[in-house]
Amino acid sequence: MTFWPNVVVATPAHSGVGASLSYRSELLLAPGTLVRVPLGQREVLGVVWECATEPPEGLTEAQTKAVASVLDGLPPLNARWRQLVKFAAQYYQRSLGEVALAALPPQLRELSNEQLARRLKRQAKAAHTLKTTTPTDAAPAPAPAASDGHDLSDEQRQALAALHSAQAPVLLFGATGSGKTEVYLRATREVLDTATPEGSSPTQVLVMVPEINLTPQLEARFRERFEPLYGADSVVCLHSGMTPPQRLNSWLAAHTGTARIVLGTRMAVLASLPGLRLMVVDEEHDPSYKSQEGARYSARDLAVYRAKVETEALRSAGQAGDPHPNPLPPAGEGAEAGTGSEPDVRCHVVLGSATPSLESWHAAEQGRYLRLAMPGRVGGGALPRLRLVDMNHQPKGAVLAPPLVAAMAERIARGEQCMVLLNRRGYAPVLACHDCGWKSACAHCSAYRVFHKLDRTLRCHHCGFTERVPRACPDCGNLDIAPVGRGTEQIEEHLSALLADVRRPDGGPARVARMDADSTRLKGSLEVQLATMHSGAVDVLVGTQMIAKGHDFRRITLVASVNADSALFASDYRAPERLFALLMQAAGRAGRDAAHSEASEMWVQTWYPQHPLFATLKKHDYPAFAAEQLTERAQAGMPPYGYQALLRADARTQAAAQAFLNRAAEHSQGLPYRDQITLYPAVPLTIQRVANVERAQLLVEAASRGALQRFLSAWQPVLLQCRSLPEARGLIRFAVDVDPLAI
Ligand code: ADP
Ligand code: ZN
Ligand code: ZN
Repeated sequence: MTFWPNVVVATPAHSGVGASLSYRSELLLAPGTLVRVPLGQREVLGVVWECATEPPEGLTEAQTKAVASVLDGLPPLNARWRQLVKFAAQYYQRSLGEVALAALPPQLRELSNEQLARRLKRQAKAAHTLKTTTPTDAAPAPAPAASDGHDLSDEQRQALAALHSAQAPVLLFGATGSGKTEVYLRATREVLDTATPEGSSPTQVLVMVPEINLTPQLEARFRERFEPLYGADSVVCLHSGMTPPQRLNSWLAAHTGTARIVLGTRMAVLASLPGLRLMVVDEEHDPSYKSQEGARYSARDLAVYRAKVETEALRSAGQAGDPHPNPLPPAGEGAEAGTGSEPDVRCHVVLGSATPSLESWHAAEQGRYLRLAMPGRVGGGALPRLRLVDMNHQPKGAVLAPPLVAAMAERIARGEQCMVLLNRRGYAPVLACHDCGWKSACAHCSAYRVFHKLDRTLRCHHCGFTERVPRACPDCGNLDIAPVGRGTEQIEEHLSALLADVRRPDGGPARVARMDADSTRLKGSLEVQLATMHSGAVDVLVGTQMIAKGHDFRRITLVASVNADSALFASDYRAPERLFALLMQAAGRAGRDAAHSEASEMWVQTWYPQHPLFATLKKHDYPAFAAEQLTERAQAGMPPYGYQALLRADARTQAAAQAFLNRAAEHSQGLPYRDQITLYPAVPLTIQRVANVERAQLLVEAASRGALQRFLSAWQPVLLQCRSLPEARGLIRFAVDVDPLAI
């Protein structure tokens, strides 16, 4: 007998190839089965989407190619995973195959069945040896008391209890240092201990963080807590910094259920997790959850969707097995309200942050998410006091205000640490000639190359173009070319000089170190730098945003932000939200040890101390800040009160990019829902040219998500046609960005 499976393969949305391709097979292949199929001259990996018993219309047996091979060692990808992928593809306007295949580890394409079988066997063996130590279904073994860390604070206990019975996505609104991670750990423990029926997958938990490398402590805490209970392979990581074999191993472990906990970055949201019962999105406001290439998905939003899909499936499975299921309470009410009967099954999702995204905050205000607040710091430590330095009253040309430097000197003398935050790496953002006005522009981008003094280079941070610093002005020969503005390298140098006479309690000189993308480029250097900071060998750490994220340095009592102003007046309407989050997060690094917290301070140098953002920051009053911002957004019909998408175009010339966009807009007349859509004229991006590619975009707005979605789908064929218009000649690519983070 012959079957006709529909197979999705990695075809980009714009290739014109349909969502799935028909093949022939002697076997009835279950949906989700991984196969290798011929495509053109190659053989590619594909996922069976469905399997027909009749040949597709208009095709004969001879016209279809046969499936080359089946990856038969692997269980098929389940229906929930396929539903997630399908949703992501539709919502973000990409092809099914592109999203599906991007979610699979690249190495899966290369391995033979024999190699695959060997890997699986190795993992199964490891899993088997730990079976004996795993709590069984019948009798969950009591945990060794030591592995459960601290006694929970009242706030943590309440949050955990509420999470347990939550009927909606949970927004864990916890101050920095309130012990959110401990809540994640406990919730994970509860889920993993849950007994599952014979033959079903063991329960699993997905924990996502913005950048895993920046939070080695988190991984350590999960391993320490769970490996003794569930075995050495029970915790795996999934992020783009891993080698292909590592990624494959983690993915396989998650897919087969060997791994019980997956710690990962945004890509992990699409991992196959058959026993998924809990998802954590830590620092849920972080922009890195939104992908900036390929399918531009938001891992946070997909996690919320995935929880819904998993919950629905769990419930219908429960009902299928039980002819008289307990009626479930309606959403929003307590799960175990009174009856004392079988607890509700669901897959929980927890979004954690001290400064939630306005989208999530709004959802909580509306009651769509359950907000759980943990305002206090563990151990009762105080949040740092905000000190604004009015730069209008500082000596002319001062980069660091004298009172700030004095305060730092005092801390160092007491054996405490300081952190200085600056959003620019390198020595100076521009090198300039004061005679003729030459500036270190990049030849390939509409941007300046940054001066890096350490290796005396000019480097473009957009395209990577790097040259030695010229001896003299390339235009007029003037020898006096000078840096303009300041980057982390310069602040480091400057601070070392300013603090040269300061002594640590041990009599040694103050030590200043820098941490940014340059200093951590080499493998392992980040870990070394974090360790030096933890050990107390460094007194002042200068760096970019990366130093503000998640680190639990115990002896920091002063954090300073030296040039926050640019974000106050940025054209991007999300800039204030980001600045507030960054400053709160940075402040959260200070005073984490309650013993030092009373004296801990956050210093902000600004030319605009009267700016209302600082008033709410001073009170650590995120709710007030969010309320202000949401009022503004509501008035302007901006997200979360309106919905946006961007159509982006890259081309050889700016004219071609804009022509493509504007023609696409003109040709959208008459499309479904067009009357509910506002299309703005095409504009160049802020950095218009990168690596000799001209970039432009067009903003699409709608008052309803549904209208936007349907319009965008209907618009796709028009976009494909507009590619070949004569005035769009030179167009390289286009992409739709749904719910864009930056306009
Ligand atoms: P957050 O993620 O909210 O910033 P963490 O979970 O990192 O906070 O907790 C901050 C510090 O407090 C960590 O060092 C953690 O080990 C500690 N901690 C968390 N919960 C407790 C508790 N209940 N008792 C004592 N210490 C705790
Ligand atoms: Zn010159
Ligand atoms: Zn460049």
